[in-house]
Amino acid sequence: MEEQNFHVVLFPFLAHGHINSFISLASLLHRHDSNLTITFVSTPRHIQSVRSSLPHSSIRFHSLPFFPESHGLPPNTESFADLQLPQFLTFLYATESLQPAFDDFISTIASDATSHGAKVVIVSDLFLGWTVEVARKYKVFHSVFLTMSCYGAAIYLSLWINLPHTKTTSDWFPLPEYPDIILHRSQLSKPLLMADGTDPGSIFQRRELSLCCKTDAMLVNTIEEIEKRWLEMVAKFLKIPIFPIGPLLCGLKPTSPSVETEIIEWLDLHPPASVLYISFGSQYSIQKNQMWELALGLEASRRPFIWVIRPPLEFDAKDEFKGEWLPDGFEKRIKEQKSGFFVHGWAPQNAILSHKSTGAFLSHCGWNSVLESLNSGVPIIGWPLGADQLYNVTLLVELGLCVEVARGNMETSEVEKEKIANAIEMVIGDNKDGQDIRKKAKEIREMVKGSYKDESCSSAKGLAEFLKIIKTAVDN
Ligand code: UDP
Repeated sequence: MEEQNFHVVLFPFLAHGHINSFISLASLLHRHDSNLTITFVSTPRHIQSVRSSLPHSSIRFHSLPFFPESHGLPPNTESFADLQLPQFLTFLYATESLQPAFDDFISTIASDATSHGAKVVIVSDLFLGWTVEVARKYKVFHSVFLTMSCYGAAIYLSLWINLPHTKTTSDWFPLPEYPDIILHRSQLSKPLLMADGTDPGSIFQRRELSLCCKTDAMLVNTIEEIEKRWLEMVAKFLKIPIFPIGPLLCGLKPTSPSVETEIIEWLDLHPPASVLYISFGSQYSIQKNQMWELALGLEASRRPFIWVIRPPLEFDAKDEFKGEWLPDGFEKRIKEQKSGFFVHGWAPQNAILSHKSTGAFLSHCGWNSVLESLNSGVPIIGWPLGADQLYNVTLLVELGLCVEVARGNMETSEVEKEKIANAIEMVIGDNKDGQDIRKKAKEIREMVKGSYKDESCSSAKGLAEFLKIIKTAVDN
């Protein structure tokens, strides 16, 4: 600590996706400047698993005590993954109880830093707005690391701060802060449609997000080349500097090597850019009737596919595969024709996307999946199911590398097999639209891969400017 100038405290929200992006950020900061003192803050179980992902001896870990039982949650709960949907809100509120312990920790390291001539910098998460209050109390620099797209975050912040949307009568409406962004009603997720501004969910989101808007700077897991306009717009509106530092790619967990080998060998049998990969991320799923429609669309397209099958929404998320999830005889026909590969578990997504036979990705447009697809130059068939996915898809369509095929996973969401088959044909097939979309995906891959090529490249510059600004800010 004595010879360190900066002590960077990384504190992600308690959700695996967020924690994984922060792990990548810790590695990036460490690679960039091994003299930085970095402390990763989380709850005990997360810290245990994060330790093995960050073996650099100079990275420290700090566990905040967390008592989920005192909020009526099961003991040992430390993430949404441990809970059912009705308990999510209680969990959000429970995370606010980490404030006193975090306050103590910052108090200790801030006074320690002062006595050694070092400076403390907090890098926290969008849903931990109260960390801004702690930063102000100890006069340390605060920044937010956005693990979503800048465009998605701008919309998310605006929609939750300007509640309610129940009275939105027109189908299309502009955002008050960003009139250039016109949203469609169908882009409002269920929680947003239900939020009236006074219910506990609205109160939590408004409080945390409004506090986050008072941060000193933002880092975004994106690249300038695809979000320049939105980065500038948000920086102007919030009056803070915003730095793109992506792509920070972070595989959530490994797949069993035998499954990975089997998938790669299956992909090896197919011509370049011919296979469709289908996955709705780590936690989302669709209705059974939508799954049937997707299956029929796949069959009609006659294109080979890899499908990561999760239980439909009507079933328990931990259920084993059941034949009734798919149309009669579908799985048997596909297996006989060797035209599809079903993954009943965790897929090696990055290995699949970077395989030369993969031609398109039917995705829910979670931001990590998007970045991984862009990094491999694979065009996207978008089927957003909720949250920021509903905005990411628009960004991707505007970029020219995605077609949206369906929206949402509620019973009312329309899914048509013909539309799915046509979209697959358009993106993978030999036609002008497909050629354009594939060309665009390749162009963007070069931009994404080039973002850290040398010091003048966009994300390398973003990171360097962030480190420069914290130095100037804390010195003043
Ligand atoms: N993922 C994976 N295998 C799977 C499902 C998901 O490796 O079978 C990874 C994927 O590569 C990505 C993450 O899980 O890194 C999903 O994150 P994303 O932001 O796309 O969606 P979320 O799961 O947060 O909705």
